[in-house]
This record gives sequence, C-alpha cells and structure tokens, in this order.
Amino acid sequence: MEIVIVGAGVIGLATAWRAAAGGAAVTLVDPEPASGASAVAAGMLTPVSELTYGEEPLLRLGLASRERYGAFVAELEDLTGLGTGYRTDGIIEVAFDADDLGHLDDLRRFQESLGIPVEALTGRECRRAEPMLAPGVRGGLLAPEDGSIDPRRLTPALLAAGERTGVRLVRRRAAGLLVERDAAVGVRLDDGTELRADRVLLAAGPWSGDLDGLPSGTVPPVRPVKGQVIRLRARTPFIARSTRGIVKGSSVYLVPRADGEVVVGATQEELGFDTRVTAGGLWELLRDARELLPGITELEFAEVSAGLRPGSPDNAPVMGPTALPGLYVGTGHFRNGVLLTPVSADILAATLLDAPVPDVAAPFAPDRFSPEVTS
Ligand code: FAD
Repeated sequence: MEIVIVGAGVIGLATAWRAAAGGAAVTLVDPEPASGASAVAAGMLTPVSELTYGEEPLLRLGLASRERYGAFVAELEDLTGLGTGYRTDGIIEVAFDADDLGHLDDLRRFQESLGIPVEALTGRECRRAEPMLAPGVRGGLLAPEDGSIDPRRLTPALLAAGERTGVRLVRRRAAGLLVERDAAVGVRLDDGTELRADRVLLAAGPWSGDLDGLPSGTVPPVRPVKGQVIRLRARTPFIARSTRGIVKGSSVYLVPRADGEVVVGATQEELGFDTRVTAGGLWELLRDARELLPGITELEFAEVSAGLRPGSPDNAPVMGPTALPGLYVGTGHFRNGVLLTPVSADILAATLLDAPVPDVAAPFAPDRFSPEVTS
C-alpha cells in the first residue's frame, strides 16, 4: 500500500508514523513540517471544557485520546530517545465570582454524570494547590487526570519516529491532486513532480482544501481560526500545573513546562489566513493572565506567536474517506488537535490500511457534510 500524506502537523506526522508501522509505504509532503498550528499550540490535554457541553461524541473522542496518551508517548520516546514534555499533573480551573462558580459547578456535574473524576476546590484549596493564584479566587475545579505536552518537542519526536519507521519526507508543497478514472492517484508537487500513490490523505490543517484538481464537495470546508499566545520564562517554578480561569467572561490559561517556559493563551479570532500578532491580542492575554496570577508581570518575556486552528463547519474533526475513491481527509481538529493526536492517528492509519477503525470515530466521517461530488 502506497500512501501520500499532505501536511506534517501533529495529525499528518502521527498518522504517517502509525501507517508506516502498519506496513504501508508512506510519503509525507510538507515544505515546512510542523510550521502550522502545531508549532504554536499550548498543548493542554483536557477533553472537558465549556465547549464540550452537549458534544458527547467529541468528549468521548477526547477521553479515548487522553487514555492512549501515556502508551503513545512511551512508545515514541522509547523509539526516538527524544522527550516530549508530557505531564499528567492535572489542570486546575478557577472562578472569581458567583456566576463563574455556578458555571464551574455545572461543568463538575456534567463531568460526574459521565464518570469523569473531578474535584471541587474552595478558594483556599485552590491557593494551596497554586500559591501564585490571585487572592480573589473564590473556588475551582481540579481535573486530576488532565495534563499537557510540549508540541514543540512532540513534533520533532514524531518526525524522528517516522524516519525510523521508513516514512519518506518530501519538503515541497503539494500543489494539485492527481485524479484518473474518477479516483485520486497521487499529488503533483509545486515543482511539477508527480507522486503516485494508492491513497492520498489531506492533513494540511486549514489548507487541506487548497489543492488544484480537488472535485468540489469532496473536502468539507475548513476555516482558519486564529489564536495568539505569549511565551514567558520563569527562573523558578511559577505554577505546578496548567491553570485556567474565567476573567470577566473571558477565558485565559497558563501552561508551565519543566524548563521554565510558561505559555499564556489564547485568543480566538475569525480573520481568515491572518497570523499577525496584534497589540490588542497581547494586551488582552496579559491583562487576563495578570488577574489570574498577578506574579506573571515578574516573568521574562520570551515570544509571541499566532497560529491557525483548523475549524470545520461543526468545529469537530473530519476524518475518513471522501466521496472520491482514494482520497481521505484528516483535519478540523480545531482547539483540540494536540489532545486528539493519538486517537486520530489510530483512526486514520486504520482507515488507510483497511483495518478495523475504533468505534469512537463514527461521528467524525466526512460524509456528515456534503457527500455529493461534482467534477
Ligand atoms: P497544522 O499543525 O496546522 O499543520 C498543517 C501542516 O500542513 C503545516 O505544517 C503546513 O506547512 C502544511 N501544509 C499546508 N499546505 C500544504 C500543502 N499544500 N502541501 C504540503 N503541506 C502543506 N490543541 C490542543 O489539543 N491543546 C491545546 O492546548 C491547544 N492550544 C492551541 C493554541 C493555539 C493558539 C492554537 C492556534 C491551536 C491550539 N491547539 C491546541 C489546536 C492544535 O494546535 C491544532 O488542532 C493542531 O495543531 C492541528 O494540527 P494539524 O496537523 O491538523 O495542522
């Protein structure tokens, strides 16, 4: 089985590794691997958030992925000798007023109804867990099984794992899809080279629909949703675990790394393919982060960046075969692509190899949008 995968973000990289490990000859095409959202993401691994209310299939997918993470990382680190910054020290979410406390209480009940462990904390307990929290914190929730990973260490490890498993990396842009007798048979690169394959997977984030020659309607529309993040640096440990809060209605989080980096995120803006960093975006993040953890103003400034989350029409992933034989899609992971990497790689590799696909994948098939194809 020869497979071409377009896009080497977390989804394309992990799928390439898994498909090659399953026996396929995989070519991964990307002019600049891991240069999209995967290079910007904070890397929180948290299946439950305010956005998953009423989204049970997505929640199940997130839980299935979080469950796989430990073994996934162990195999990856073992194979490559590279670390990924994976940690499972929980995520704390705090509230400052009665409205937000009520909101956290709803979230706790929702999680408990699904059998997900979560601990309600008083303001004092929150500060005991995270002494740098603002004195005004009234209460919070600790999700003890959540955690984080450093996407900037995960992607080099995935690249190395692919290399060791026989994935061929082509550092070029896929410009067009090759279609013969109503089936995808490969891609054309931007230098005109043709790469032939039995199957083509589009995993190029919000650029997944950009190839020339894609019959209209085959790939569901995926839009870019901009997110700005700030990276700070602490000389001594600042927070023990990822810490989130709702500050006057807007949500902010801080994710610590073992080397002292603290990632502050993230804005959510619908501005098309725009990755400019703006004064307003930075101000908003720093303002809200300071309300949550006043001591952040003492940390060293390291970097600011913006990335584009791939958002499908229902903000859930789109994974599986399209209506065009030979053409597959793996994108739309929106705010959760890092969390969803292990389960997505399992789903997409199994689909490409005609192996049994995990049941949690069923709600995310591309044909839930528009199955018709017109050339
Ligand atoms: P991308 O990482 O965008 O990769 C797409 C790749 O395709 C790129 O390398 C690009 O070069 C390549 N490409 C594009 N066009 C072509 C072409 N024509 N030919 C070849 N290659 C091409 N998720 C979490 O789980 N937890 C978080 O805490 C989190 N925080 C985030 C914070 C921010 C600010 C942002 C922006 C995202 C965050 N995410 C988070 C979401 C996560 O980053 C994405 O869902 C995930 O990275 C998507 O991965 P991907 O592989 O689909 O796409």
